[in-house]
Amino acid sequence: MKDKIPYKIYLNEDEMPTHWYNLRADMKTKPSPLLNPATCKPLKAEELTPIFCEELVKQELDDTTPFIEIPKDIRDFYRMYRPSPLVRAYCLEEALDTPAKIYYKFEGNNTSGSHKLNSAIAQAYYAKKQGLKGVTTETGAGQWGTALSMACAYLNLDCKVFMVKVSYEQKPFRREVMRTYGASVVPSPSEATEVGKKILAEHPGTTGSLGCAISEAVEVAVKNPGYRYVLGSVLNQVLLHQSIIGLETKTALDKYDVKPDIIIGCAGGGSNLGGLIAPFMREKLRGEADYRIIAVEPASCPSFTRGTFAYDFADTGMICPLAKMYTLGSSFIPSANHAGGLRFHGMSSILSQLYHDGYMEAVAVEQTSVFEAAVQFARTEGILPAPESAHAIRTAVDEALKCKKTGEEKNIVFGLTGTGYFDLVAYQKFNDGIMTDEIPTDEEIAASVAKLPKVDA
Ligand SMILES: *Cc1c(COP(=O)(O)O)cnc(C)c1O
Repeated sequence: MKDKIPYKIYLNEDEMPTHWYNLRADMKTKPSPLLNPATCKPLKAEELTPIFCEELVKQELDDTTPFIEIPKDIRDFYRMYRPSPLVRAYCLEEALDTPAKIYYKFEGNNTSGSHKLNSAIAQAYYAKKQGLKGVTTETGAGQWGTALSMACAYLNLDCKVFMVKVSYEQKPFRREVMRTYGASVVPSPSEATEVGKKILAEHPGTTGSLGCAISEAVEVAVKNPGYRYVLGSVLNQVLLHQSIIGLETKTALDKYDVKPDIIIGCAGGGSNLGGLIAPFMREKLRGEADYRIIAVEPASCPSFTRGTFAYDFADTGMICPLAKMYTLGSSFIPSANHAGGLRFHGMSSILSQLYHDGYMEAVAVEQTSVFEAAVQFARTEGILPAPESAHAIRTAVDEALKCKKTGEEKNIVFGLTGTGYFDLVAYQKFNDGIMTDEIPTDEEIAASVAKLPKVDA
């Protein structure tokens, strides 16, 4: 075998992490706290428990505990689809004729088709443990809703999903998978909530947005006894659960003494990237090692590269807590031409702070070049990538091509977050040559940023 490194580095079950790693514990500048939108004061646990499960509120607010034990029941569930393989992309390297060594951590080997199941099972577990009847959530592209319905089916919890209307209509099969796992799925905005009715009255014919679906799901959770709201990205607790991706990656690389030079992940709300980089960022924060870390976002929704670092709402209905993050403004809605996920206007507070403090870089890429990379990857490595994941592929390929020019044998690691079987309408557009790149103008971004809430520092 070339370089003695196998195509796939698998871990044994007994090498799986027993604890999640909480990045915040090692950050010198902690992410800014969530604020109560009415008072602009940091939220206390008791203000969050009507919305979120108690144990998850604890995790959300915990800036100091570095390692948190993964309950045995969750580890047992993880065993059904983890450890996930770390793949050496020999075939892609050959096609690119690059001296770079490319690795990807593949999270698409479960029915939900993405990394989202890692946090879905944790959140469903804590809801069950608290004796709740069920959970509510939103889903955009559909992966999170699918992951959560799988976790809820396993634990016998009710699951209500508000699905962004455009996805509901474009991806009927995603919806059917969720219903098969027992979830109820409502297109958002809907008449089922006050906030949905209000948005429909103000914007008749709207195809919906994640921010709007979040508002609806929160409203239903707060109004129904025995229900709490769960979110598949952005929150500190989600990055915590996703640290399993990075911890497994590091264990696998350490087995072969491979030290990554560049770590790349796509960034929507930041959960897969935050999870992938967690143990590496730990070393960087502690001054034990250095890595280049690159967040890749769509040019049509460029929170890091063109957003503002400020307090903002996570939702359009402006009922959620305020979070300090890189944001395009909660009224920003990416172009309908933008395929796939990564459409959230904001970004994880943890990653926002790390980016602000210079610990990581960000690039924005256009979707036609993303699909070019996706197709090249599918044809060489065999896996049909999710469009979100293909953002990371794009940048990994670009970095590998730079190595070809300089002759450097860099180790490049990227997160392949999922598969694209439900994204074939987007692939069809690309294959037919009718996919376009929609990039918001400075004026459009300025208009939505101008509506940011005024918060005194
Ligand atoms: C949800 C999702 C993403 C983006 O979400 P993050 O929280 O930024 O990780 C990326 N890839 C896939 C396959 C997803 O389902």
